[in-house]
Amino acid sequence: MSWFTLQAWRRGSDGTGPKTNENTEARDLRWGDSPGGLRMEKVDYLLVGGGLAAAKCAAELRGRRASGRIMIISAEKRLPYNRPPLSKGLLLGYQNPDQIGVFKPDFYQDQKVELVLGSRITEVDGDKKIAVGDDGIQYHFDKMLVATGAAPRHLSVPGADLENIFYLRSLDDSLAINESLGKAQRALIVGAGFIGMELASAFVQKNVETTMLVRDNKLFAKLGSPELSVFFEDYFKNQGVAIVYGDSVDSFEMTGDGINVVTKAGNSRQCDIAAVGIGVIPNTQFLEGSGVEVDNGVRVDEYMRSSIPDIYAAGDVANFYDPIFGKRRRVEHWDNAITQGELAAANMMGDSRTYNKVAYFFSDMFDFSWEWLGDNSDTDTVINRGSLGSKSASVFYLKEGRLRAAFLMMRDAKERKWAEKAIISGVELTDAKQEELADEDRTLDSVL
Ligand code: FAD
Repeated sequence: MSWFTLQAWRRGSDGTGPKTNENTEARDLRWGDSPGGLRMEKVDYLLVGGGLAAAKCAAELRGRRASGRIMIISAEKRLPYNRPPLSKGLLLGYQNPDQIGVFKPDFYQDQKVELVLGSRITEVDGDKKIAVGDDGIQYHFDKMLVATGAAPRHLSVPGADLENIFYLRSLDDSLAINESLGKAQRALIVGAGFIGMELASAFVQKNVETTMLVRDNKLFAKLGSPELSVFFEDYFKNQGVAIVYGDSVDSFEMTGDGINVVTKAGNSRQCDIAAVGIGVIPNTQFLEGSGVEVDNGVRVDEYMRSSIPDIYAAGDVANFYDPIFGKRRRVEHWDNAITQGELAAANMMGDSRTYNKVAYFFSDMFDFSWEWLGDNSDTDTVINRGSLGSKSASVFYLKEGRLRAAFLMMRDAKERKWAEKAIISGVELTDAKQEELADEDRTLDSVL
């Protein structure tokens, strides 16, 4: 059954769907615990969440010739799409919603990947291998992938639900922000993570007077490089973004002149639109009572296997064991969702591949892009290469002479590959090698 047939069948004209399941390819149907004739589906690969990780998992399964039913259940009513353009190209108008799909619509039909859109899994029984949708349908699965991503952390202050206060996760959020932005003159951005920074960049390029409210006392404190924080601050200020450090929102109030924002420090500021980017929370609520271990996301090993056999997790929701860094991590980035979705597919089909990649992240702001790879949370040396002023620079983070992380701005792709190799190999860079690394005139090939 193709995905749209499934949709038509599920929704039915009266919204309840047909009373029988004669259209399904159900095999070995048993009603189990479902009382009163609840509908059920038997699915070989049930992919919960309709984002990047699930779509890539489905493609990899079919690419590996998986037979049987592959079904994606998504809370969103859209085909899986890429989120990076939501805070960049879509706001700035150089991309439109039709261009951001993970795959073209035909893909799902051609590959017989069934899509159940606008439906949320609310319950899972890990032992019985049953997932239940918010419409009561029971999915009896052979293997399941949890790829439910994460949801924006919300402010809990008075007035936080007022109109024109936005969070950004979905295409609908991005479209709503864009519409509101068209009528706005003054914006407030709360938070200075990559979402806040990208939004500030887009807003000010759309001639909206933009202020960032930053809890820390520098930008990107997490990058652990004072030079980078100063670079970003100077750059953003020169582009017209105002930055207020060491303060956060105490309340929002609607006035005749837009939204009045009162800060913890007791200052007030008027704006027409506010966008909040203060981090995300992994979507795992539906796994309560499932037996699947959850701790800041779904706990999985380096094979993407959860604590329950045949249940895997990938992408933003996965708290995985990263063998390269020898610790658990949850990575909320595009490339990682692809890697893990595909890895989970391979292992669902009997492979035993471990996660073997240095997770990286990219971002575009104003007229430059940058990449971040690795983990600098435990490093003792920072080496700069190139010049931030000319917007071509790298910052390398080492621990006991070994490369652990790198920031790369407008650098040749070769440099990222070099950094990835250096991190994976764990080779020790002597003092002489570290000096070479800092010297832009020396090629990196000689450093390893
Ligand atoms: P998601 O893409 O979030 O997909 C999860 C899906 O599951 C969603 O559709 C959700 O509605 C659905 N869902 C949740 N709960 C349920 C449920 N119970 N039942 C059914 N469905 C459910 N990364 C970069 O590296 N570079 C960037 O520049 C960049 N820019 C970004 C810009 C924005 C605005 C955002 C939001 C993210 C950006 N990212 C970027 C991060 C990247 O997009 C994510 O890491 C990636 O989308 C994660 O994919 P995922 O499949 O794990 O989750």
